[in-house]
Amino acid sequence: MGVLFEKHTLANYDVVPSETPLARRVAQLAMRVAGAAEKLGVHYPWKVIIVKSDDHSAECFPGGVIVVCTGLVMHLGELVAAGVFDSMDDALGTILCHEIAHAVARHQVEGLALQPWALMLEKYGRPWELFSTFALALPYKRQQEREADIISVHLMALCGLDIEAPMKLFLNVRTTSTGALGSFAATHPSDSERALTCARTADIVREKYGIPRNDSSMPAPPEPQEDRVLSPGPAQTETRVVSETAN
Ligand SMILES: [Zn+2]
Repeated sequence: MGVLFEKHTLANYDVVPSETPLARRVAQLAMRVAGAAEKLGVHYPWKVIIVKSDDHSAECFPGGVIVVCTGLVMHLGELVAAGVFDSMDDALGTILCHEIAHAVARHQVEGLALQPWALMLEKYGRPWELFSTFALALPYKRQQEREADIISVHLMALCGLDIEAPMKLFLNVRTTSTGALGSFAATHPSDSERALTCARTADIVREKYGIPRNDSSMPAPPEPQEDRVLSPGPAQTETRVVSETAN
């Protein structure tokens, strides 16, 4: 399936040549994260594709194809310059570790397995279609995002990157826009909840791998807010690159 995604991506986007400094740098870091994923038992023929797009997007597709938009790389560079992250590797690693964490947890395959149920319920009319979306699909997606956030912090540690960087992302960048229905209709948990999840996981990972605490760069995590309604923010770090094929 990764080959199909690769062909689709190559056909619909302007791909940055792999020999350019930007593509090489992103690919090197992605392979570093992929190497950590291999330690967790996930083996794919990993491939990184950089596409020219202003979107703040990245995604790891089934089969190990990782797609990163140039707009995201540029935005992360701005966040490093603003002092949100200590280094570009920490910033980019935060995104790559999250996306590859979905592959570690095999979320893409789980998503494909749910599709027949969703299609079956839709046949029974609009109420069942809404039930499928709001009672099954969206809560399931939010749980997958929580799992990916937790695994991503472990991957950051295995790569020797800043384990607090994922928390810093959610403290400083608005990543979700849930609209009028709030978290009920959200595909991701709120940023505050995600920051707290990452902070708590960092504490566990710090003890597990014997990583010293850097108190100066550890702001207090926020308490989670219930059903927070977010207006469209300045940044979206995870949108679908190829929506009809992403799961
Ligand atoms: Zn995700």
